[in-house]
Amino acid sequence: MRTIAYTYDADYHCIKCTVKQFQQSFGMWSLDVDEHGVLHEIEDSEGNFVHPVFDTDEWQELDNGFLEENPIQYMVCGDCHEIIDTYETKEMTPYEKLEWIHCAIQEALNGNLGELPRALEMVEDIREPYLK
Ligand SMILES: [Zn+2]
Repeated sequence: MRTIAYTYDADYHCIKCTVKQFQQSFGMWSLDVDEHGVLHEIEDSEGNFVHPVFDTDEWQELDNGFLEENPIQYMVCGDCHEIIDTYETKEMTPYEKLEWIHCAIQEALNGNLGELPRALEMVEDIREPYLK
């Protein structure tokens, strides 16, 4: 697990900007700092704790409708606007689509029909190569 950014002041910030921002608060030999020298439990200007973002964290929006319109998402530093991390939607494999359709049918049996149109699209995707 690796820290790739921090969240404070309601935005993401790169390590460089975070270190610059909180430099004066660094304890010289404080044990309570992370690997970048940022104090644990330091507060931002809104009185909220500064949180590290790890490379294993899910920061991206994973809603299916959103992903379709935004196949590539960026985490951008609120200070220097450097791109911190990029998330690219990968094409679902036929197996993943079948799993998804399976879930959608189960949801439908439980009375939740919301996922059926998307499931139908996936069936059409899978069927397509056989229609030639
Ligand atoms: Zn930055």
